[in-house]
Amino acid sequence: MSEEVLPPDATDAQESTPGSHATPGSLYVVATPLGNARDLTLRALDILRTVDVIAAEDTRVTLPLLRRHGIQTKAVSLHAHNEARRAASLVAALADNKSVAIVSDAGTPAISDPGARLVRAAHDAGHAVVPIPGPSAVSAAVSAAGLDAERFVFIGFLPPKPKARRELLESVATLRFALVIYEAPHRVRETVAELANLLGARTLFVARELTKVFETLTRMQLEDAPAWFDADSNRTRGEFVLVVDAPSPPSDKASALPVDVDRWLAELVRELPPARTARIVANVTGVARDQLYARAMALKHKSVD
Ligand code: SAM
Repeated sequence: MSEEVLPPDATDAQESTPGSHATPGSLYVVATPLGNARDLTLRALDILRTVDVIAAEDTRVTLPLLRRHGIQTKAVSLHAHNEARRAASLVAALADNKSVAIVSDAGTPAISDPGARLVRAAHDAGHAVVPIPGPSAVSAAVSAAGLDAERFVFIGFLPPKPKARRELLESVATLRFALVIYEAPHRVRETVAELANLLGARTLFVARELTKVFETLTRMQLEDAPAWFDADSNRTRGEFVLVVDAPSPPSDKASALPVDVDRWLAELVRELPPARTARIVANVTGVARDQLYARAMALKHKSVD
């Protein structure tokens, strides 16, 4: 069999990719480390060194990173509260043929971080927008989760208000996808309890302090998660990504359940999420919650299909 040979310019293009020097009039969206300072890519260093200005979520976080690498580029702030105003002046700089990089405190800008508004404004004004990919908590966590699911939904931070949180979770509970959630330390214990209530029997992957000294990566059943956090107060410290694997394929086997139990499930699941339905029916009938949950999921899917 003949070996596939790449045309010489295909590999050369990767070696001498134009990313090695910032192009005038371009906006670069640059990923920076989540914790480990060595996770800054070579291309990110090239761009941060050669752009005219860096728009940073917090210059007090970014300047030490730049100085560590001997980068002297001017930095200005771009955060949630000044993004509208700052975006206008940065787009004016792009129009003046200056090159601009945007960075957040950690990971990839515009993913649960400021940046999307500036990126949109740059597109609208016809400027090139160039991603410089690298660390992001969502990709790091999903890559290490060992998911059964082939697809995932990135939820990011849940809304702070209980009703909005519940509605969002109920809207994704029956999807056969994994769910990726960003969470803060003071809420993580409460959130896993809520996930267990609303999502039922699923596997949870906890990615805590990714790339940092106290990195903790662990898989468990969702219903065991509150006890896992309670077992050691250090476990609620730091930064978290929670990855809930997809629900098991729904069982169509109603025959294993008494007819009246199946009818209760069918009625309740029209009004309630499958996990809550299964819990109520399990409490009343004594039938295993997992079995009821799988059947409730099947009935719910049948009603949406
Ligand atoms: N833009 C960032 C990214 O690309 O991942 C995310 C920024 S968001 C404001 C911060 C959240 O990301 C944290 O609350 C946490 O959920 C997650 N995160 C960031 N760094 C992390 C880390 N080292 N370990 C675990 N989660 C992290």
